[in-house]
Amino acid sequence: MDYDVLLCNGLVIDPANSRNGRFHIGIRGDNIQRVWEADDHMPLPASKMVIDAKELIVTPGLIDLHVHIFTDYTPLGIQTDRIGVQQGVTTVVDAGSAGVETYPIFLEKAVTSSETEVLAWINISRLGLCGGLSELADLSQLAPVETAHLMKNDSRICGIKARMSASVVQENGSKPLYIAKQVARELEVPVMVHIGNAPPALHDVLELLEAGDVVTHAFHGKKGGIFTEEGSLLPEAERALKRGVIFDVGHGTSSFSFATMRRALEFGIKPYTISTDIYRQNIDGPVHSLAMTMNKLLALGVSLDEVVEMSTCNPARILRKEHEIGTLTEGTRADISLLRMKKGPLELTDSEQATLTTSSYLQPELTIKSGKVLKCV
Ligand SMILES: [Zn+2]
Repeated sequence: MDYDVLLCNGLVIDPANSRNGRFHIGIRGDNIQRVWEADDHMPLPASKMVIDAKELIVTPGLIDLHVHIFTDYTPLGIQTDRIGVQQGVTTVVDAGSAGVETYPIFLEKAVTSSETEVLAWINISRLGLCGGLSELADLSQLAPVETAHLMKNDSRICGIKARMSASVVQENGSKPLYIAKQVARELEVPVMVHIGNAPPALHDVLELLEAGDVVTHAFHGKKGGIFTEEGSLLPEAERALKRGVIFDVGHGTSSFSFATMRRALEFGIKPYTISTDIYRQNIDGPVHSLAMTMNKLLALGVSLDEVVEMSTCNPARILRKEHEIGTLTEGTRADISLLRMKKGPLELTDSEQATLTTSSYLQPELTIKSGKVLKCV
């Protein structure tokens, strides 16, 4: 046998390799062995399993840059595979559910028993979200030295999370972010900053961020977002984008607005990454899944190629793992998503209860994780 799994004739969209067309993909063990253009005149090589993907869109395994998976220990956590491989997502990045003190339990509960690959933004607060949702209100709970030490010894942790909104930081303004940035700069890793209700004001938060740092919830519909009340783009947001700060969707229960996203697109601003901020309280709406969040961007006019890019190679770049994930490069691990473009109509809802109706939408059908074929739910 040449291959363990052969994916035939799928419409492959692999922005990392500028592929968009009909390709065959041969998998051996947990690796992508070969990717080649489909040609009806050539016989197919022998394979233990053949998947006819003619009707399907084949992408690198989807990556969700912002999720919460620490069940039982945090108020938000959801079971990892439920939002991972069961929904076409091969890698999830937990966004600050764990801090340095709770990280060992996080590994045990949310990571080791999952098929889905788990990476993490570590919370700069020592307990993460395990001590409640005001984790940056007491500066003595911040753990820069211990966090730096842990990160040096764990390649699963890709960056630092700091949630910058009034209910989280209370009297502390931007101080927690300032501390997180000192650690991040020392280790040359990005920070992911959650933005929400002020204080701290968004312009103060943005001024602390550098190229590669991530603003999640960038397109929320609350007061004090990236647009002024008169509708112009905040000068600090424009400057941040220019110097390479990343704007991420981070949908969440209350953090994605069609109106804000539409206005941003009119200004020529697209999200660099699409993430869900999915957790127990929003999986049944308005978030549902990464695919459904991708569908919302598609419905707002972002192209399929770009939406795939924003959910595969772009998050991989932020995580500095673009040579391992988010790509269908031969020799890399076989993490692949197979999606069907279904006919609508389907009504989509944002965090402000605004709706829009789409005529077609993506639905995950199969996930291949490290060469293993899994059916989506
Ligand atoms: Zn979150």
